[in-house]
Parts: sequence; structure tokens; C-alpha cells
Amino acid sequence: MAEQTSNRHSTEGEREKKRIAVFGSTGSIGTQALAVIRANSHLFSAEVLTAQNNDELLVEQALQFNPNIVVIGDEKKYAKVKDALKSTNVKVFCGEQALEEVAAMDCYDMMLAAIVGFAGLRPVLQAVENGKVIALANKETLVVAGDIVMQKAVENRVPIIPVDSEHSAIFQCLVGESRNQIEKVILTASGGPFLGKKPNFLVNVKRDHALQHPNWTMGAKISIDSATLMNKGLEMIEAKWLFNLRPEQVQVVVHPQSIIHSMVQFEDGSIKAQMGLPDMKLPIQYALAFPQRIQNKFPRYDFRRPGQLTFEEPDVKTFRNLVLATDALFRGGNTPCVLNAANEIAVYAFLRNRIGFLDMTDLIERTMMHVPFIEKPTLEEYFESDAEARNFAASLIKL
Ligand code: NAD
Ligand code: MG
Repeated sequence: MAEQTSNRHSTEGEREKKRIAVFGSTGSIGTQALAVIRANSHLFSAEVLTAQNNDELLVEQALQFNPNIVVIGDEKKYAKVKDALKSTNVKVFCGEQALEEVAAMDCYDMMLAAIVGFAGLRPVLQAVENGKVIALANKETLVVAGDIVMQKAVENRVPIIPVDSEHSAIFQCLVGESRNQIEKVILTASGGPFLGKKPNFLVNVKRDHALQHPNWTMGAKISIDSATLMNKGLEMIEAKWLFNLRPEQVQVVVHPQSIIHSMVQFEDGSIKAQMGLPDMKLPIQYALAFPQRIQNKFPRYDFRRPGQLTFEEPDVKTFRNLVLATDALFRGGNTPCVLNAANEIAVYAFLRNRIGFLDMTDLIERTMMHVPFIEKPTLEEYFESDAEARNFAASLIKL
């Protein structure tokens, strides 16, 4: 028996590495995940890389990581990627359908879901149905169809490990607590670049200013979501599904220093917090290596340095997106899906200077009022609600 085990070790030495499929490898999370994989190449290999438009970075990553497969979303770029990788064994696919097909393949163990927005949902569903462990950065997946995704995860015994820093914090606080009741979770919010500002200031805000986050460097969509506080609203819904909470168990507190990444209060009143400097590589690394922690050289938080950790209530009169998202959280059904779709349209319109900062909230609110409520949507109905919300929100911009 001992001999057999040692044989298996020697012949499958390579296989002991966790094979990661990085969906959205050219983004902020994707590139940081590849940095973690590179720094721990004895533990991880990158087997799948995908990108929507950035063919040059995708090719560079493929040459560096020698994955099994790359997928370029934009079909017009297929020939260019294929040509650039012709002297390698890397298989090249393109288009939206290929993302799902690759998600269903056997060549990887864990999907790092780092595509942004609704587009991330289908590949995650495929991966879950095929028994892959999910390291989930794409919060929109759970906002849109959290009930279906979590149900499928249970059926397929698939762990969904959060990458979002707040949810990673809660997940870490819950280690060893599986028999204990959560009273509530407290999501911390930095407040974004416009903390303390009022509508008379926000009305004139432009994209470049809104993209400047004080504590984190992130992709464009989540940076705008952080500036409007929609990001925290989406995270409340994400937390509900990940940790099986009732809406009233999810609370938000503004903590501008982003040192406490979130907290869990148990039924005895005890509160656990997870802390550290704001660096997404840490929650990414935690998710990839779970249940292990691995050593690294990331900068450490130093309590001896002068500084304060402060907390305040979010200003929901100014940042009304948080109210809309809270409504969606409590209402359930297809409302979070509609909220998410309208928000995606609003954010991309704002990024193209088509609408103002405060117009985003109005657009989302009107779309939420327009799309009929469905209490227990099927997956098809989620897709229909998403499409209907996008069409309606887009029609408001054209007026
Ligand atoms: P990003 O815009 O930097 O990267 C997005 C990635 O997805 C890119 O690789 C892009 O090519 C790909 N992509 C974009 N549209 C696509 C489409 N339609 N089909 C297929 N691929 C597509 O985004 P990001 O900041 O890395 O965020 C990714 C996800 O992680 C988001 O859901 C975000 O909310 C979440 N998240 C990000 C951070 C962060 O620090 N950036 C933190 C927590 C959670
Ligand atoms: Mg977050």
C-alpha cells in the first residue's frame, strides 16, 4: 500500500498541482491571480486563460504560463491570437460559446471566476455542473441567480470560495464555526472616492474622477460601482447567498481605511473581524490555496504606526444606489437581476460620458419599476429579465 502511494506520487507529481482556469485573466483580478500562481508555481498551474478583447496581454500570458487552452471572446481577434501562439501547444478558441464549452472540460480543477458582470454567469454554471471548485470574484453571478447557482453547487457538492475581500473575510471568520449561529455579518465599505460628498457635488462628477478609488486599484466597472456604493449593495446580495443569510442579517458600515475587511457577529454577541492591508492578492491566494494558508511577502499592517480605524453609517440619502440594492435584497425574485442589468447599462453609459453620475440611480430605479416581478424565476426567466431590463434601461438613455 505504502509503495503504491509513493508510486502514485512520483508518476503524478505534476498532477498534484492545482490546475486553475482563470476566466477573465487579463483583468485586475485575473492579472493578480496570475501573479499569485507565478509566485507559487510549485502549487498551482494556469491551465485555461480567457480574455474578451485584450489579445496582446492574453498572448503574453499564454507564452509565460503555457496553458492548455486560451479563449479570446472577440472573434475578430482569433486569427491574430492563433498566429501568435502557432509555435506552442496552446489550443485557441474564440467566442462566447467557447467559454461555456471550456468551462465544462476536464483539464482543470478550479475556476477562478474573474469575468466582470452578467457575462460571468454561464461559465460558472457550467463549471458547477461539472463539479469544479469555484473561486468566485464575479459577484454578479450570485446577484443575478444566486438561488440557482447555490442550489446547483449543493447538488454537485461544489465549494464556492469567495474572492471578494469582504466575503473572504467573512469566510475566514467562519472557519471552525460551522455549528454556531450567525447573528449578523457586517460588511465594511471604504465609502469610495466621494465619501462625505453631497448630491450638489456628485451631479458634476466625471468618469476620470469616479475611477480614482482611494484604497484599491480595480477594473472600471467595479470602480464606478464603488463610487456609487452599488458595489456594497451587490455585495449584500452576494453575502446573503454565500452564507445563507436572511436579508436583515446583512449590515453595512463605512470604514474608510479598508483594514477590517468585514466581520461576523455570532449569537453570543462576539464579533470576529478579518484584517490586513488592502491587497486583493491576499483573498485571491486564500481562495486558491484553501484550506491552507501560504507564506508570502506582501506588506503587513503595523498597529504601531499612527493611524485610526474609524466607522460610520453609510449616507443613504446621497448614495441612493445602496437603498435600491437593499430593496432588491429584501424583495428577492428577479429584482436583483433587474437591478444588476440596469446598473451595467448605467455604468457603461456613464463611462462613455452619455449620462451623469446621479442619472445612474434614476435609470436603475425606473428600470426596477418597469420590469414585472417574478417571485421564483427559472434560469430562462432570469435571462429574460436581464434582457428586458437592459433594453428598457438603454431606451431611457436614447431619449
Ligand atoms: P476587469 O474589467 O479588470 O476584468 C474583467 C475581465 O473579464 C477581463 O479579463 C475581460 O477580458 C473579461 N471580460 C470582460 N467582459 C467580458 C465578456 N463579456 N465576456 C467574457 N469575458 C469578459 O474586472 P475586475 O476588476 O478584474 O473584476 C472582475 C470581477 O471581480 C468583477 O465581477 C468584480 O466585481 C469582481 N471583483 C473585483 C475586485 C477588484 O479588485 N478588481 C474585487 C472584488 C471583486
Ligand atoms: Mg469587495
